[in-house]
Amino acid sequence: MNTTIAVRIAPSRGPDANGEKGVFAARDLITGEHIGTFAGTESATRTRMSLQFGPEQHIEPGETDPLRYLNHACEPNTVFHNRELTARVAIAADAEITIDYNCHEPELASPFACRCGADECVGMVRGARHLTEAQHRARYGRLQAWLIEKGERGEMGETR
Ligand SMILES: [Zn+2]
Repeated sequence: MNTTIAVRIAPSRGPDANGEKGVFAARDLITGEHIGTFAGTESATRTRMSLQFGPEQHIEPGETDPLRYLNHACEPNTVFHNRELTARVAIAADAEITIDYNCHEPELASPFACRCGADECVGMVRGARHLTEAQHRARYGRLQAWLIEKGERGEMGETR
């Protein structure tokens, strides 16, 4: 059992988020601390719950995997290295644990209006290919490596 996190109903962040579950720190976490592994089934297709870890690699989390409830923030407090989730910053007990969906998906299955409140909030979260070049570069510390490579090859700019 994972003792670093707990799943519960997240506070509403907008009309689309009412009653949605979220992942919360069960205790204080230190920067760099390992939080969990995104296990699941590999698929070639994207779903609302899947997370992308490669050009054709979508991982559908298991029904009981708490990480399936990770919500988005434009300045997230965690990041995935491969499928290992680690804290980017110190996270206080009871704080919500977030990731940046724009760092995984070129195109989201279900775009939504973000209300994370970050200074650099992108507004509509639609996927990495909708980021400006500056937003893309600002995410180099947490963007999936294959998405950085796509950007360097000029393959992300179709919709800018
Ligand atoms: Zn935001």
